[in-house]
Amino acid sequence: MYFSSHLSAGVFLGTVAKNSPLALALGLSSHALLDMVPHHDYNNVLPAILDISAGLLALQTFRTTNPEIATSIFWGAFGATIPDLEVAIKYLCPFVSIKSLYPSHTGKLRHPQRKFPQGVLVQVLTIASFFALSIIL
Ligand SMILES: [Zn+2]
Repeated sequence: MYFSSHLSAGVFLGTVAKNSPLALALGLSSHALLDMVPHHDYNNVLPAILDISAGLLALQTFRTTNPEIATSIFWGAFGATIPDLEVAIKYLCPFVSIKSLYPSHTGKLRHPQRKFPQGVLVQVLTIASFFALSIIL
């Protein structure tokens, strides 16, 4: 899934957990669950840069508006997004041979794809839902 989709789940989990270690664990787990939802993934750098920039801006906004749980929100978002670092390294450094570790990247867990527009709609709904829940709760 997109960076912002994973991040929105992490923000939500950090908001609910209000506890950094728990938020980190929940965030790491959420990554696998979201990767199992049929979705669209981008395959070049420009959408990734835009996605990551918008996601980080949203993260900063949630942390600034909720200073009492800002650390928990950070760790939830970190846990939810960090598994894709191995995907980014593989894409950006194809000459470096690294073995994937995260189960949804190794093939141990399903990672179904959907084309545009269905796959993008799934991402938009995911992001909107988790951010809305983070605001409501
Ligand atoms: Zn992933």
